[in-house]
Amino acid sequence: PTQWDKEVDVLVVGSGAGAMASALFASDRGARTLIVEKSDLYGGTSATSGGGVWIPASDSALEQGQQDSPDEAFTYIKELVGNTVADGRIRAFVENARVMKREIEARSDLRFTAIPYTDYQAEKPGGKMGYRSHACNTIHADDLSPEDFATLRTTHKSAMLFGKIPWTIMESAPMITRGPGWKGTMARVLWRYYGDIAQRLKSPRSRFIVFGSAIAAHLKNALNRSGGELWLRTALVELLRGPDGAIEGAIVAREGKQMRIRTRKGVILGAGGFERNQAMRDKYLPGDSRETFSASQENNTGDAIQAGMRIGAATDLMDEAWWAPTVRVPGEDTARPLFYERALPGCIIVNQAGERYMNEARSYDIAGKAMIDADRPDARSIPSWIIFDARFRKKYPMGPIIPLLPDFLQSPAARKAWRKASTVAGLARKIGVDPERLERTISRVNRFANTGLDEDFGRGSAPYDRYYGDQSVQPNPNLAPLDQPPFYALEVYPGDIGTKGGLATDEAARVLDMTGQPIAGLYAIGNTAASVMGPSYPGAGSTLAPAMTFGMLAVQDMLEAK
Ligand code: FAD
Repeated sequence: PTQWDKEVDVLVVGSGAGAMASALFASDRGARTLIVEKSDLYGGTSATSGGGVWIPASDSALEQGQQDSPDEAFTYIKELVGNTVADGRIRAFVENARVMKREIEARSDLRFTAIPYTDYQAEKPGGKMGYRSHACNTIHADDLSPEDFATLRTTHKSAMLFGKIPWTIMESAPMITRGPGWKGTMARVLWRYYGDIAQRLKSPRSRFIVFGSAIAAHLKNALNRSGGELWLRTALVELLRGPDGAIEGAIVAREGKQMRIRTRKGVILGAGGFERNQAMRDKYLPGDSRETFSASQENNTGDAIQAGMRIGAATDLMDEAWWAPTVRVPGEDTARPLFYERALPGCIIVNQAGERYMNEARSYDIAGKAMIDADRPDARSIPSWIIFDARFRKKYPMGPIIPLLPDFLQSPAARKAWRKASTVAGLARKIGVDPERLERTISRVNRFANTGLDEDFGRGSAPYDRYYGDQSVQPNPNLAPLDQPPFYALEVYPGDIGTKGGLATDEAARVLDMTGQPIAGLYAIGNTAASVMGPSYPGAGSTLAPAMTFGMLAVQDMLEAK
């Protein structure tokens, strides 16, 4: 007979938003619940994220007078994914995302508010100009136990002011393009940070917690209250199937020691994707795909996907990721995604032949994928260069570079990352691009900036392009000439914010075997599961919302199963 070191009802692997929500749902229903988290921090990449959650037709959107329905969201997703995803899973998501929101709000202090953030392909049938993406409420360190604050993973540098000062979504938007009221907002954000003198003397880390980190913090508090447990530094090693094929437990490594955990109800795998596993990237992802291009934290090495495959689970979409153009900053352990910078007027992306090859203002997944698709031996687009002039440099943020501050006050890492020259030809020589070709590309763009029409790639023509345009720039808020020296360039990679291929699941998040049958007691959510969004990215929050929704459905199925 098997010797067990511990027995629980539900074992949850990983502590991203979906995993934590699942554990809360299970624990709240009286199931003995344990989360095992490999790293010494909880929250996963979810906690580093912008915390946007895409929930169609939520109560918050409807209360704000918006028209939306699960049917319209189904139409939209279906339009984007074609036949790559089973209709039943899409239905399960669009019907239940808003239920998930209510159920989480009923069990925690987490709140989601619909915001006017444009769907990434709003021009498609069923797309919306806003109010499907939701922002979450913030939380202060004083509302967490000291230990839970110390072990909470923090916001990604790219999602904070100057790489270290947290702000909310509604505060960041006017500051990025310096829209009305930006000065007052800036003063408030700076005061909140520097005014916390006791903390500033101790640490650069803010006690004001925002975005995905706030989601993790709220869920941790609620999990504590419900009696759920979370073990840090504990990694899933193997899944154990009983004689009848059902999952009966797992082997985990806890601080170097192996333990066998028996699960009476089942296991939910929420251990992220394989973006930080170079061998898996080489095997599955297209193009020259480096682990260092990823903006995700280092623990997502595909462990749970591989453990599932070893016991016979099927996989899907393994060649897909949540793509994003990224830049590397010397000394930082993850890449920085360029979520919005590309859309601001006065920058362009060129390949190594000095040619543009895309509408730079499209959503990051489309732009990232375009970088891979455009890669040719005679005109490499991996890596590419993002090029901007002094006017852009002073006015807008770009990766690690801070607007308004003169060059000599920029961080040494930012100055190491950029190439800079007083002429376009000089810059071209520094980045190894044909000077005449780059000059031609830029004068063509400068002409488009005057007419307002990007004749080559239609930059500024789609609603989402314009979301991050600078409305004070006319005739096209996404286009300005690059004509003020000096000129700058940063190397850009087709990176990601997580992979999206993984274990094949059904509409209750049950993991399927090679014959399409569910493996009893095994569930997968988040980037451990093949995404319900197929190869698409409908809007901000398309990764976190399904992770939490399918977490809820997994728990329902598991605790209601006979
Ligand atoms: P994670 O949140 O990464 O959680 C996985 C956890 O599993 C990790 O803590 C990891 O340590 C742990 N783990 C790994 N292996 C094991 C093992 N063997 N045993 C135990 N634990 C293990 N998405 C949105 O929807 N909205 C946004 O606003 C958004 N903004 C983003 C901003 C940035 C800067 C980045 C980088 C990403 C953003 N994303 C956003 C993407 C999103 O963060 C990820 O797609 C999502 O967090 C993945 O969730 P997950 O639960 O699958 O994985």
